[in-house]
Amino acid sequence: MADIIRLLPDHVANQIAAGEVVQRPASVVKELMENAIDAGATSIKLIIKDGGKVLVQVVDNGKGMSETDARLSFERHATSKIQSAEDLFQLNTKGFRGEALASIAAIAHVEMHTKPENVEMGTHLRIEGSKIIFQEVAVTPLGTSIAVKNLFFNIPARRNFLKSNQVELRHITDEFHRVALAHPSIGFHFYNNGSELFNLPVTNLRQRIVHVFGGRFNEKLVPVAEETQVVKISGFLCKPEFAKKSRGEQFFFVNNRFIKSAYLNHAVVSAFEGLIKNTNHPGYFLYLDVDPKSIDINIHPTKTEIKFDDEHTVYAILRSTLKHSLGQFNVVPALDFEHDKNLETPYNYQNKEVTQPHVVVDAGFNPFAESAQQKGSFSKPSYQKENTKGWENMYVGLESKVGKETNFDNLTFESDVITGAIFKEKEEPETGVVTFQLRRKYIVTTIKSGMVVIDQTRAHQRILYEKFLKNATIKDAVSQQLLFPLSLSFSKNDISIIKEIEENLIGLGFVMNIVDQDKVEITGLPLLVPDTEASMVLEQIVADYHMEIEGDSFSQTDVLAKNLSKTLSVKTGMVLDIESQQALVNDLFACKESRVSPFNKPIYITITENDIDKKFI
Ligand code: ADP
Ligand code: MG
Repeated sequence: MADIIRLLPDHVANQIAAGEVVQRPASVVKELMENAIDAGATSIKLIIKDGGKVLVQVVDNGKGMSETDARLSFERHATSKIQSAEDLFQLNTKGFRGEALASIAAIAHVEMHTKPENVEMGTHLRIEGSKIIFQEVAVTPLGTSIAVKNLFFNIPARRNFLKSNQVELRHITDEFHRVALAHPSIGFHFYNNGSELFNLPVTNLRQRIVHVFGGRFNEKLVPVAEETQVVKISGFLCKPEFAKKSRGEQFFFVNNRFIKSAYLNHAVVSAFEGLIKNTNHPGYFLYLDVDPKSIDINIHPTKTEIKFDDEHTVYAILRSTLKHSLGQFNVVPALDFEHDKNLETPYNYQNKEVTQPHVVVDAGFNPFAESAQQKGSFSKPSYQKENTKGWENMYVGLESKVGKETNFDNLTFESDVITGAIFKEKEEPETGVVTFQLRRKYIVTTIKSGMVVIDQTRAHQRILYEKFLKNATIKDAVSQQLLFPLSLSFSKNDISIIKEIEENLIGLGFVMNIVDQDKVEITGLPLLVPDTEASMVLEQIVADYHMEIEGDSFSQTDVLAKNLSKTLSVKTGMVLDIESQQALVNDLFACKESRVSPFNKPIYITITENDIDKKFI
């Protein structure tokens, strides 16, 4: 049999490897910026065109390359950073595999200018799809400029896979933030399509954070500092009151390299225990310095995970350091780390007034009493409060008035569990709408053939979703004018998202004005959004949009309506009073599609008499 195994030509091998290193323009940004830092640059410029699809250029004032090095830098496994396998364990630089430039050059048009110190002339070199087009001597300043054009020009499938320019720009910005936050002693400029997005002067870490995320950050930061044999920790936490619904600014750097770590994040969250709601996320900028030998850096170059030799110790030190910082800066009242957690006041109770327990005797209660005669049908009951005096409140849902408008918008929640009165309300379920809430999660109601169990959250999502969509399509969306305009602060990144979706937000009923690079003034809100929730709602929309834009959002309005419905819906654990339960049922079955939630999850199940009978056999 003839030999059939062949070695792949270099340019093919490079293309395959490129797929691992370069997923999108942001990966190129990361690699080029890291090379510039490794080259000792003190000033780095990032220039982007059209989300990096047309151009990603990084210009540095680092040590530059000789003519030969310039040429060699594009060879696979060409690196100046390690010489032997042992060096891998002493690594202090970002790169070490020597494959970034080779990979990038395999899938783009690359142009490099570079000049080291003490020589007159530098080198100008062009490579397209791993082929050297030319290399010449050129006049160029100290340092290196690498321009990467037309990424994936020779892999159309990958090019088509790229998202919109805005989305790609957002990924690039995320990457830029990470590098800029890890190196406050380097100055950065970032230009997009000719306009300056960031100008970050050399400064300290606190100022760097403020320059990146906006002035309002200054008052939010609590410093952290601790030095032990195992790890040195520095950086900042955001005060608990600024914790957000979304994972906003959460940054870990290990030896100045950005990493993601669910494990360490857990240590931070546990340090905040009792200080923030457990649905909120703390913000942090934490820098861990460890002996390079004590971490496993033999990871994929684009991955941001890391493995510590002694994870548990790092976790414990981190947690107690953060607790200490929060305590020292008077954010936590107690400094005593050893004290019993069981004695701490849970968040929910912290600001509650002490209430005197009292016993209420329901004089009207008679377990054998016949309930009021029920009229009305399943589809059109009413829950309008008319006789709202005294104990009769409990029965208010029973007085059906056919034809009244349902009004679930004014949903009321009860802070305590409703009395057992719910269960004695009806002996004639077939005719009236009986509802009760099961485990603060489901609304159970009856139909002719049996019963329906409704997921309260999904049902409410569906109702809100259809209302928002309806408002948006009527165009002339109804909004409530605010007496006092709300001024909300956002990061530049968030503002760019808000700008993108501004028209749709207006379509839904927001009346707003972007007044500054980091401020939005709101003068009107969609009818269904309470003004106390405005900032939370907008923050959540921006966060969701950031995440979800990756998916196939066929219409922005649809995505927004979904997100709003998710944010504003009643959640599991909320107690709904009888009226709200019934309104929920009515509004749900008035929906165009009452079976599935906007996220395609079933809203209710039915259990027929037959099903029940079977269980009794
Ligand atoms: P690695 O960074 O893993 O060594 P790269 O492919 O990113 O691999 O770069 C290859 C080599 O090219 C580097 O080791 C370095 O010597 C040189 N190099 C790349 N970018 C620069 C730069 N901006 N300034 C100076 N040298 C550079
Ligand atoms: Mg590199």
